[in-house]
Parts: sequence; C-alpha cells; structure tokens
Amino acid sequence: MTTTTDLVSYEDALASYDPVMGLEVHVELGTRTKMFCGCSTELGAEPNSQTCPTCLGMPGSLPVVNATGVESAIKIGLALHCEIAEWCRFARKNYFYPDMPKNFQTSQYDEPIAFNGYLDVQLEDGEVFRVEIERAHMEEDTGKSTHVGGATGRIHGALHSLLDYNRAGIPLIEIVTKPIEGAGERAPEVARAYVAELRELIKALGVSEARMEMGQMRCDVNLSLMPKGAEKFGTRSETKNVNSLRSVERAARFEIQRHAAVLSSGGTIIQETRHFHEDTGSTTSGRVKEEAEDYRYFPEPDLVPVAPSREWVEELRAGLPEQPLARRNRLREEWGVSAHDMQSILNAGAIDTIVATIEAGADAASARKWWMGELARSANESGKSLEDLSITPAQVARVTELVSSGDLNDKLARQVIEGVLAGEGTPDEVVEKRGLKVVSDEGALTAAVDEAIAGNPGVAEKIRGGKVAAAGALVGAVMKATRGQADAARVKELILEKLGVSEG
Ligand code: ADP
Ligand code: MG
Ligand code: ZN
Repeated sequence: MTTTTDLVSYEDALASYDPVMGLEVHVELGTRTKMFCGCSTELGAEPNSQTCPTCLGMPGSLPVVNATGVESAIKIGLALHCEIAEWCRFARKNYFYPDMPKNFQTSQYDEPIAFNGYLDVQLEDGEVFRVEIERAHMEEDTGKSTHVGGATGRIHGALHSLLDYNRAGIPLIEIVTKPIEGAGERAPEVARAYVAELRELIKALGVSEARMEMGQMRCDVNLSLMPKGAEKFGTRSETKNVNSLRSVERAARFEIQRHAAVLSSGGTIIQETRHFHEDTGSTTSGRVKEEAEDYRYFPEPDLVPVAPSREWVEELRAGLPEQPLARRNRLREEWGVSAHDMQSILNAGAIDTIVATIEAGADAASARKWWMGELARSANESGKSLEDLSITPAQVARVTELVSSGDLNDKLARQVIEGVLAGEGTPDEVVEKRGLKVVSDEGALTAAVDEAIAGNPGVAEKIRGGKVAAAGALVGAVMKATRGQADAARVKELILEKLGVSEG
C-alpha cells in the first residue's frame, strides 16, 4: 500500500498555522483480576483460558466492579490533580466487533470518576508546559483478533480470524486532555513529553507497568490546525493506538504537515481516525469518525454507581508518591548532575535502579556510572530493560563496595558484573569462582615487582636516573603477571620504593 500524501515542510506549516492537540491515553491496569469478573489478567496464557460467562457476555451473567480498579483510577485522578466524582456510573458504549463478545464496552461517558486536572511536563530545554486534563475514566479492554492468511496481518486479505478473549475485560483507564493550545512548533515535543511524564506517573503510582511496547499504554493523537491568530479550532484527525514515545512525536509532526498541505491548497480536513505506520512515519486514513450518539451510550443497569467516600479519597491522596518531575529535580540536585544527564538517565529508564542501588549502600556517582555505562550497554545488546537484567541493585551496590574497599579495581569489577549477568552467582561468588580479587598480598606483589625489575633492567635504570614516567612499563608488566588483579597505584609505589626514587 503506497499512497503518497502531500505534505508541506514543517517550518512552512508552522508559519501559517497553530496546531491544537488532544491526547487520549489508555492505560491497562496491573490488577490481578479483570475489571468486572474474577478472571486472571496474567499475560501469556493459552488463548481463551482466562474467560468466564461474564467477560464472554453470556446471558444471565452479572458483572461486579473490581475495587482495586476503582482505587487505581482514583489514584491516577488524584495524581493528575483532578476532582474525584462523589458519585458516578458506568455506561454501555454499544457497537459490534468480534473482539467484544458483549456487543458493548463497559465504559464511562458523561460521569467520569476523575475530571479537571493537569500534568506539568518538562521539555528538552527545561521549560515546563502545563497540559490540562479533561477527565480520566474507567473502562475495559477488548479481546484480541489475529487475522490469518493475508500478507499484512490485517483483516484485508486474511482467510480467517482467530479471537482470544483473555484480554477482554482487563481494566483500562482512559485519560483525556483538554485541547492543548499554544505549543506551536513544539506541539510534537509536548505530546511526547506528556506521554512520557504520564508513564512515569503511572509507574510511580504502581498501578501499571505502563510498558508501551507491550500495549499496556497507548495513545490516540488528535490534531487540528487553525490559521495563525484564529480562535475557532479546525477539524481534527485522530491517529489511533500510537505505541511508542517516538511515534507519538512523529505522528503529531506528520499530521501537522499533512493538514497544512490540505488546508493551504483549499481543501478540507475530514474528521476521521488514522493509522500510524512506524516504517514510514506516515499516517493513512482509517474510518470516518463516528459521533458519540452513534454509540447509544446509556447507564449500565447491571452495576451499582461508584460513590467513593471522601475519607477514602483523602486516604489515597495522603498516600500518593512524590510527583516524578519533582522527584527528578530533587534527585538531580542530590546527585549533582546536569539537566541533560538527568534526561539521559530518565530515557534509559535508570532512575529507580540507581535510587535502589544508592539505598543499598552505593554512592551516587558509582551507582550512576555502572547503570548508565556497563549495564546500559549490556541491556542494549540483549534488548532488555535495565530492570530485566539478571543483576539486582543490591548486587551492583556490593560491587561498588568491593571497588571502594580496594578489593576490586574497575576492570575486575566489570568482570564480576559480567559473571553475575551470566548467572554465575552473586558478586562475592563470582569473585570467588573466577578468582578476581585484587592481589593485595604484599608478599606476592613484591615478588612480582622484583621480577619485573629484573626482567627490564634498562627501564629500571631510567627510573633510577629520575625518569619516573618510565615506571608505567613496569607497572604494566606487574599487572600482566597478576592478570590485572593488582592495585596499580600500590604497584607503582612499590616499584619507586624499590628503586629508591620518590614521585616528587
Ligand atoms: P472522541 O471520543 O471522539 O475521540 P474525546 O472528547 O474523547 O472525543 O477526545 C477528543 C480529544 O481531542 C480530546 O483530547 C480533546 O481535547 C481533543 N480535541 C477536541 N477537539 C479538538 C480539535 N478541534 N483539535 C484538536 N484536538 C481536539
Ligand atoms: Mg477518541
Ligand atoms: Zn471473566
């Protein structure tokens, strides 16, 4: 499918138009059971093994609200500075699709559990941009269709489709922004930063792992343009299910360029959904956007209203964690790193592992050094995230402890880490098994030094004559003889001592 779309350059688009965005983010909650039944939400099970009459929409089955789901929704609402409804209901959103056996999605319509909030996000240059939140509401996920036999995996051209209802009924929270105006050329950056900050917040709340690559968090990007200085919003397009931070930014950017091309050639934008294509960074037309009334929303008669007591809400508010942005700013000061370095640490997903390593006894600089260096490299190579590496923050802390006590040098420490990652045991076990301790036994060191001097009389002579810099060659010989396990500084001291020179 190669449809080319007319685009104008990004700069030209922004010279004539102001973008308006709306971001709808779906977060799959990490509850143990589904939103309206007791089925497990565990990933990776046999298709359709985690279903029951309720999530399959069988006649006579009745839903029951998952209290943890409601609690998570309230926590998210509070963390987004929203008001929490004193009383709200679920609503049926009626439409047919095979992945939804009830023929309606249990959602919330005009009575969301949380509304009127905001989230401050920080842009690359450090500026803080406030994104207003319209609402956060509770709903449920659909099942998953797999279209078989076609070339693209899409329904077009497929010979048959398979349906797995394990995901049907898993709780979702949908978070909808108010129209985001005034971001101008930074609109795509704001979109990305917003989704990134929201993900940090969700993770900090512990209500979901919010892994975009696993579909636990996905974003619909609504975008419209209006002529510069105009007040009335243009018609929006809605790019659905964008599932990485980079794609959110690219989708917004592409739509700005596409809208500008349509509008500046006298065309009109149709309100439609669009699909984003990772490979080309472009969007293509989906379906013409339906109106809310098409769904025939009505209050769900099988569920009681949700009326969270104010005591409960206040209790949850009191238990909220520090806002991730505030926490990053605090840690940045404590660790003495630049805003840019902090951004890299955030992008590497290393904040929590570094904090945990410091809590386990490492100093901040060492904890950062290992997680952002050796371990980030290793994670990168194996395509894992830092938390998934088979080394714990406590083990990294132990390695830094062995370095600062002089038992290991950096080179040996790298080997210890490599051993732990390879499953050879704890740092101490790896040191033991691989025999990696720095040779601090003075007798053994002295012997190695004597040997190096005897083996390199010319070098020794130079040093005796005052050329201290030449000691490097002897240190190298000793390090080689001890397989890198000597403390280089101590070796140098011994050499100079033996040859009767002082360093200066
Ligand atoms: P729908 O369910 O039809 O997608 P929502 O109200 O749930 O509608 O979400 C629409 C999103 O788009 C919201 O974030 C809203 O702020 C935003 N939005 C509304 N109108 C416009 C517009 N003209 N241009 C850009 N964004 C818009
Ligand atoms: Mg929408
Ligand atoms: Zn079920």
